[in-house]
Amino acid sequence: MRDPGVWGSMGASPSPIKAGPAPGESMKVTAVEAFHVDWGGGRNRSAWVRIRTDAGVDGLGEASPMVHGSASLEIIAGAFTPMLLGADPLQPRIIQDRLFHEHIKVGPEGAYAGALAAIDIALWDLKGKALGQPVWKLLGGAWRRELPFYASIGGNGQRTVDQVCRVVEDWLELGPAQVKIRFDADKTARDVDLPGDIAKARAVRKLVGDDFPLAFDSNNGYSVQGAIRVGRALEELGYVWFEEPVQHYHVESFAKVAAALDIAVSAGEQEYTLQGIKRLIEAGVDIVQPDIVKTGGFTGLGDMAALARAYGVDLVPHQTQPSIGHTANLHFVASLTHSHHPAEYNGPREIQDVVFKTPVRPVNGKFVLSDAPGLGLEVDEGQLEKRTIRWTSSAARA
Ligand code: CA
Repeated sequence: MRDPGVWGSMGASPSPIKAGPAPGESMKVTAVEAFHVDWGGGRNRSAWVRIRTDAGVDGLGEASPMVHGSASLEIIAGAFTPMLLGADPLQPRIIQDRLFHEHIKVGPEGAYAGALAAIDIALWDLKGKALGQPVWKLLGGAWRRELPFYASIGGNGQRTVDQVCRVVEDWLELGPAQVKIRFDADKTARDVDLPGDIAKARAVRKLVGDDFPLAFDSNNGYSVQGAIRVGRALEELGYVWFEEPVQHYHVESFAKVAAALDIAVSAGEQEYTLQGIKRLIEAGVDIVQPDIVKTGGFTGLGDMAALARAYGVDLVPHQTQPSIGHTANLHFVASLTHSHHPAEYNGPREIQDVVFKTPVRPVNGKFVLSDAPGLGLEVDEGQLEKRTIRWTSSAARA
């Protein structure tokens, strides 16, 4: 039998609480809905979770969408849900630690950390709604509520130099504070076209002028020697950071590249644990980039931010999901101490806007955080229901 504490007593059914808990009472989780949102044929589905309570408030969360996030949905439905029913949702840190250790051998990385992230984001959204406060305020406050973004532009490995420049030009119309060109390299190859990659970096610099901040993301495409060659070119071209130059699991290679170069070397979107981020920092990585939908949500990412700050290393979260993930990330970076880099933005996806009454879009180059409770996302329930495919685990307890 579990210690009642945060979990409450299984089966007990307190009277519904109308507007937040009175002293001495706890609200309880009554349902955990894990589901795909189907955006249409040929598109990746989103993996979302909604946590409902006996107080009538609910929260929405999102898991990393790798392979449609199906593995995370199964972990939520089959393993986490039986533990969450009856729990006090306003205690996300304790819930996360219990969930993390209960089934740790399924993870602790990848889809497992994505499942923890979805639950944590939903709990913070729920907590904000229960308390009538935006998440950014619950996190300690916002250093800024108008958040600049950087254009995260993928697919440049396959484009010609001219095509890269045209795509960057299109993006500049949205008013980014910085541009990052990603190469989305074939991770089974190395150093496929070093002169070509450098030529694209040079052409983009020429296009935007000397003072515009630029970043370069190889997506794990280089050997140590290839990375150092490209990195020296990026230094000459005044790039701000050089992202994932080598395979993410070759931490010693990151150490060699970072030691050889003056440009900031960044990595961390493929790390899922506090210890993984610590290894990168200790190897000499200058900017760490954990992702809120992969690393335990606000709770997991908050620990990583404290760790990075202790080492004097910048944390610039990775984030490419356009609605829940992006909004959660904005609340997080708004509250991030000494943050001075723009937030990642992978671009508008109209197809996802339709399930929200207020789509998440930049205005004059900034995302603006409101005072609305929780994440501040207003769902169009009818539109969402049409695209919802509930995840049912064949292994879940009835
Ligand atoms: Ca990246």
